[in-house]
Amino acid sequence: MSDMLLRAPFFHTPANPFRSTGALQCYEDGALLIRDGRIVASGGFHEVRKEAPEAEALDWRGGYLLPGFVDAHVHYPQLRIIGGLGRTLLEWLDQVALPEEMWMADATYASDTARRFVYALASHGTTTALVFGAHFANATAALFDAADAAGVRMVSGLVLSDRALRPELHQSPTEIYFESEALIERFHGKGRLLYAVTPRFALSTSEAMLEMCQTLVREHDGLRVQTHINEQPDEVTACVQAFPWATDYLSIYERYSLCGPRTVMAHNVQTTDAELERLAASQTSVAHCPCSNAALGSGIFPLRRHLAAGVHCALGTDVGGGTGFGMLKEALQAYLMQRVARDGQVLDPGQLLYMSTRAGAEALGLHDETGDLSAGKSADFVYVRPEADTPLAGVLERVASMEQALAAIITLGDTASIQEVRVGGEKVFGRR
Ligand SMILES: [Zn+2]
Repeated sequence: MSDMLLRAPFFHTPANPFRSTGALQCYEDGALLIRDGRIVASGGFHEVRKEAPEAEALDWRGGYLLPGFVDAHVHYPQLRIIGGLGRTLLEWLDQVALPEEMWMADATYASDTARRFVYALASHGTTTALVFGAHFANATAALFDAADAAGVRMVSGLVLSDRALRPELHQSPTEIYFESEALIERFHGKGRLLYAVTPRFALSTSEAMLEMCQTLVREHDGLRVQTHINEQPDEVTACVQAFPWATDYLSIYERYSLCGPRTVMAHNVQTTDAELERLAASQTSVAHCPCSNAALGSGIFPLRRHLAAGVHCALGTDVGGGTGFGMLKEALQAYLMQRVARDGQVLDPGQLLYMSTRAGAEALGLHDETGDLSAGKSADFVYVRPEADTPLAGVLERVASMEQALAAIITLGDTASIQEVRVGGEKVFGRR
C-alpha cells in the first residue's frame, strides 16, 4: 500500500452552494493524500503532510486541481454530428440525429464511435457521465466496454423507442425487455459502470414501452432512469397529444413511476410551476444543457424557478444537440445565458463548479463516491495547467484570489489546458 501526496492548489464544492455559504473550498497551497485510488486526506499541504510524513510527494504547483467533471446528459451516437446548426429540435432529429443513429447498427462503426466518445470525455476532464446509449444492444454494449477499458465512470443504457422515429430504430417492447435484461446482467455494477433505463422521450415511446421501463426498474436494484422533457413547445404539444390522458409532459412519466431520486430528465426549459413542484417532491433531477438550448433554439433555462421550487439541477453537454464535450464551456454558457435572461440567476464560480461536478454526482446518487475532493472519495480529478503564453496562463499569473482563478479557468479553460485526468487515482488522460 503506497501513499501518494499530491501538492497543488485546488477547488471543490463538498456542499451545495445554492443552499449554504462557504460551500466552495479553495486551497492555495493544497494537497490530496491518495491511497489505493481514494482520497484519504485533503486540505492545506502542511496539514495533509502530517498525516503521511513518509509519503511520496508529487509537486504539481503551477497548475490547479479540480474534481473530475460529471456530464449529466450526453448522447454517444451523436459524436459525429456535432455542429448541425440552424434547425429546430424536431427538424434536427429528423434530418441530422436519427439518420446518424441508424449507423449504430454497424458493429465496427459503433465500436469505433464508442472508443472516440470515451476518449472525448476523458480528454475534456469528464470522469463520470450519464450517457444515452444507442437503439441497438450491441452498440450499447460497445460503449460500456469502451468505458470499462478506459476506466471512465459511466451510467448508460439501451435507448428505447417504438414509434415516431424511423422503423429501423423502433423496437418491440417484449423483445427489447430481454435485450435490456441481458445488458443489465452484463454491465450494471461492473467496475465503474451502472445501467440507466433510457426511454428516448415520450413521443417515441408507447404506453407498452413505458410499462416495460417501469418493469425493468422494479425488477432490478439500483438502476438509474434518464429521458428528455419539455425541450421545445411543439415537442411538448406533440407529447401531450400522444397520451390523451396526460395533463402535462411530466404526468406521462409519472404514470409509469419513472420519476424519483435516481432519475435525470434533460432540458425542462418549457416547464410549468406544477411540474416543478412535482419534480422537487419526487426528488427527480434535471440536466440543464445550455449550449444545446441555444444551438437548437430551445430557449433560456428557467434556473431561478427550478431553484425556487427546490428542483435539483446538474449540467449536461447534450452532444450532439450541444456543441462539444467541454464541461467548462458548458458552465460558461450556463453563466452567459443566465446573464442575458430576463429573470436570470447570476451564477458565481463556486455555483458553476458545483453544477459541473458534485451536482451531477448527486443527481446520479454517486456523491459518496465522486464529485468533490473530500476524504473518502474516489480520486477523480482534473489537472489544469495551461501552456505558458496562453491567455489563461497570463490571467492566472495576475489573479488576486483563488475564486478569480476559478472564474478564469471556467472562462478560458479548454482541452488544451487540461494536462491530466484521473479516475480512482488512475490516469485516464494525460498530455505528459
Ligand atoms: Zn438529449
